[in-house]
Amino acid sequence: MTDLYAVIGNPIAQSKSPQIHAAFARELDEDLRYEAILAPRDGFAAAVAAFRAAGGRGLNVTVPFKLEAFALATERTERAEQAGAVNTLKFDGEDALGDNTDGAGLVRDIQDRLGFVLSGKRVLIMGAGGAARGVVLPLLREQPASIAIANRTVEKALALQRLFAPFGAVEGGDYARLSRRQFDLIVNATSASLTGELPPLPPGVFASGSLAYDMVYGDGATRFLIHAREHGAAQLADGWGMLLAQAAESFFLWRGVRPDTRPLIGMLRGR
Ligand code: NDP
Repeated sequence: MTDLYAVIGNPIAQSKSPQIHAAFARELDEDLRYEAILAPRDGFAAAVAAFRAAGGRGLNVTVPFKLEAFALATERTERAEQAGAVNTLKFDGEDALGDNTDGAGLVRDIQDRLGFVLSGKRVLIMGAGGAARGVVLPLLREQPASIAIANRTVEKALALQRLFAPFGAVEGGDYARLSRRQFDLIVNATSASLTGELPPLPPGVFASGSLAYDMVYGDGATRFLIHAREHGAAQLADGWGMLLAQAAESFFLWRGVRPDTRPLIGMLRGR
């Protein structure tokens, strides 16, 4: 019987996951079906139960259900525990393994696809929401020189510093603290680009050879990437690569084989 997977969220019509996973399945000749489930905002657990009863093997979980998925999991990976959120569920009988593939996806996209080595680099993460939290530990595992986290609401950046300082050199603070400092990798993990805004980033932060990475994806360069190009960043990347790479990590968790994301970026951008 063909194995069944799905993405669950609310809203869900905008999700690219069905076309991404269909492309992965074609690429690797895996026999699976992948659907999109619109769950009522108060009906996540019931929708998951119905999916499992129909033989569903795994779910991608998106807004607003990542915390409920965390609670629903009977077992969680370390990266899901540290992220505090689950974006991938794998079902096996009564067991539900919860994982978070965002951080691993970002790291793979940066190192494997873009060829940017993280070891020894000075990293700046802008933003301290769910996306930022999910990527700190996987970035730290690559032995960067340091990770600075800047956020508009400073307390949230300081909370991430407290959470991750035991694992490596992490500091949190506001944007003003960044003046006269330079970074090799600047990750925009804020949602500012969605509304055409730019976090209050001092202009001199882009070191020579630096990579500017915006987690947001859409048509054309974001305001942050345009700013980064004008202020000396050597390499620019938007969030399409991360989107594909976190999906590939989910696929790997479910199927044990890892898709190559590179051929698919053009397909997604072209739509
Ligand atoms: P959250 O809502 O949890 O956090 C949003 C963050 O953005 C907060 O730190 C917030 O600061 C900051 N922010 C929003 N507007 C501004 C602004 N104008 N100036 C400065 N800071 C701002 O969102 P997530 O962390 O879940 O997601 C962040 C972005 O990452 C989203 O746009 C999402 O699309 C993208 N993303 C992409 C993925 C991919 O695969 N490519 C995966 C996951 C996320 P404050 O705390 O002060 O409000």
